[in-house]
Amino acid sequence: MARISTIKNENAIPREDREQLSTCLFCDEKISKGGCWAGSKCIGVCKKCSQYLIDLFIDTLDDTDESFKKSSVETKMKYIEQMGVKRIVKKEEDSKKQEKYSYIKKLNLKYYAEVGIIDFFECTMTIVEAINKLSGVDKYNEEVLNGCENDVKEFIYSISREYPHTIRFFAIPDLNYGTFRLGCVAKIQNNGSTYILCGNRSYFEGIDEPGYNLTVKEVY
Ligand SMILES: [Zn+2]
Repeated sequence: MARISTIKNENAIPREDREQLSTCLFCDEKISKGGCWAGSKCIGVCKKCSQYLIDLFIDTLDDTDESFKKSSVETKMKYIEQMGVKRIVKKEEDSKKQEKYSYIKKLNLKYYAEVGIIDFFECTMTIVEAINKLSGVDKYNEEVLNGCENDVKEFIYSISREYPHTIRFFAIPDLNYGTFRLGCVAKIQNNGSTYILCGNRSYFEGIDEPGYNLTVKEVY
């Protein structure tokens, strides 16, 4: 489930699916805002028709749940209200998760792994060096880099219960686009555990020359 306003310019979604998502299932009108669902079929619903989703919910329960069908209007109402509260709470939790690590997402640092201990950081960039070096690159502006450093602190704390004492950035060649992407390394005190975050899962295979068999996990 998603909101049409947030996905209408999402190029990762095929054009015909985007078309279908922005056509109201009930009235067939084109919509730029509303709820949508991308399953085996793509559907969108406009505000005016959204009440019919409740009809659909009631019909589904009437047809599949004998005790619901036989219950009074008040009991049905109570059931729908309870379900409504559950769904709203879930939606709130989902949107909080979505907001989390927004700067890590901007830098596409989707994957991370705990690597062998790294002690020397001369070939990396501190946050100040990264900001100065990349000042002309909009994607890596000061707000994004500072935000990313904070996100990385919180993320490392969430997995290790310790804030990192060292966070550095480094460049990874991206031959597809003839450029370099940023990766990030963070180290905590406890046993010197060092974590690397980057946007390409295969990168970890490339750097695992000592054969630690790194376990690569997803940040988000
Ligand atoms: Zn409609």
